[in-house]
Amino acid sequence: MGARTARSDAAELAEPAWQYAPAPESRDVVSIEAEYGLFIAGAFRPAANGPTFATINPATEEPLARVAAAGPADVDAAVAAARTAFEQVWGPMPGSERAKYLYRIARQLQERSREFAVLESLDNGKPIKESRDVDIPLAAAHFFYYAGWADKLEHAGFGPDPRPLGVAGQVIPWNFPLLMAAWKLAPALAAGNTCVLKPAETTPLTALLLAEVCQQAGLPPGVVNVLTGAGDAGAALVAHPGVKKVAFTGSTEVGKEIARAVAGTDKKLTLELGGKAANIVFDDAPIEQAVEGIVNGIFFNQGHVCCAGSRLLVQESVADAVVERLKRRLATLRLGDPLDKNTDIGAINSREQLDKIDELTRAGEADGAQRWSPPCQLPDRGYWFPPTVFTGVSQSHRIAREEIFGPVLSVLTFRTPDEAVAKANNTPYGLSAGIWTDKGSRILWLAQNLRAGVVWANTYNRFDPASPFGGYQESGYGREGGRHGLAAYLDA
Ligand code: NAP
Ligand code: MG
Repeated sequence: MGARTARSDAAELAEPAWQYAPAPESRDVVSIEAEYGLFIAGAFRPAANGPTFATINPATEEPLARVAAAGPADVDAAVAAARTAFEQVWGPMPGSERAKYLYRIARQLQERSREFAVLESLDNGKPIKESRDVDIPLAAAHFFYYAGWADKLEHAGFGPDPRPLGVAGQVIPWNFPLLMAAWKLAPALAAGNTCVLKPAETTPLTALLLAEVCQQAGLPPGVVNVLTGAGDAGAALVAHPGVKKVAFTGSTEVGKEIARAVAGTDKKLTLELGGKAANIVFDDAPIEQAVEGIVNGIFFNQGHVCCAGSRLLVQESVADAVVERLKRRLATLRLGDPLDKNTDIGAINSREQLDKIDELTRAGEADGAQRWSPPCQLPDRGYWFPPTVFTGVSQSHRIAREEIFGPVLSVLTFRTPDEAVAKANNTPYGLSAGIWTDKGSRILWLAQNLRAGVVWANTYNRFDPASPFGGYQESGYGREGGRHGLAAYLDA
């Protein structure tokens, strides 16, 4: 190790010994309609005053469908439908009956998983192996998990007779469209609430397919409503007086606006916002494993992950070795067609997000950090960004402080565990962290001292519906998942 010259490395990186043959997943499993309506009171209908917008495939810029844009009248109609369903059907229904619907939705998600995976990759740009192996199975797992709670709420630790709140207004982002819908809907429905869901403008299609699954499962009309549209539809939903609970996942900036809009009302609020997590590698860590964890931490889902390990904190004595191995590993990642089963890095979700990543990486260079990407051919059309590593990053650099939400890693070093904790906590966020070390006592000490809602040890980006997820500080408040995730939807 260390004996290789930069030249032979570069030559090897530029000319891999062999290439993967294309292995595209078939698009035929999904039929995309030319136009989609809003899902209100169990049926699809156009927006009241008729406007629509296009959703595109970010890997090709090809328009996939036109989708209705909800306005204030549609928000009124959806909230009214949800209120009626809450009062007349879903609220009074025994938990054991509600559970049956959730189980049905979960099973339908499993049965139609290929269809959902292909549609998610088309609309979002994420690699099919991620939508197939992570997004869709986890979405189904959330419905299965919360179905199990529906008839056991009195044993969940919230008193003998916890009551649902009423209509939940739920606004979600584009990075895990179906999974975020499942995180929001499953606990709300299990607890006896009814829902109005606003998916992100750039990724509405799997939420609409989920609405179809609700129909297929025979879910009573109005229990789940889906309002596609832009940020103004989300703003109208959270401000609606008929909404008793607001759940938001997205940027800290919009989260603050929502907190202001909800302040002084009787609405309950949970916010899942941004992050700038530290992934901390000690000199006694198994290096190969840690490198896989670093790659998974920041290049999974193109780095469009709120809990991404976007700051690598590596102990100074092993920093060069870790960075060298990391670069060699990154040179093997395959970027391209999201529907290809061998693709590791898909498309950036939107032009807007690509511009944001571009701006922040330029700031990284301007601040004096060293930028590196493996040799990598970007497709001619669509939105793409190569995996990128910045070394020589200091804590004051924008790329060490601001959430990039893209495939960009900032590398910082430390000498002692205390310094690692101080640097990791030097952020306005507090969503997640990773620790790589051989010592159990060090893991426990760090987990206690890191101000992060989720701490992974010798792994990263592990999710389970039974495990609560959420942040501190500017990463938001409230927990989703597990028993804790029920609390947000109960008057307890
Ligand atoms: P965003 O701009 O905050 O959008 C999130 C959702 O809010 C979208 O549906 C958006 O609609 C809607 N929205 C926009 N303005 C609104 C307003 N004034 N009132 C109500 N709703 C409004 O975030 P994004 O850019 O889509 O997502 C990226 C961010 O989300 C990142 O910062 C990331 O860290 C965070 N995130 C956090 C978590 C978590 O669990 N903590 C998970 C995923 C993502 P449009 O799509 O039409 O703009
Ligand atoms: Mg799209």
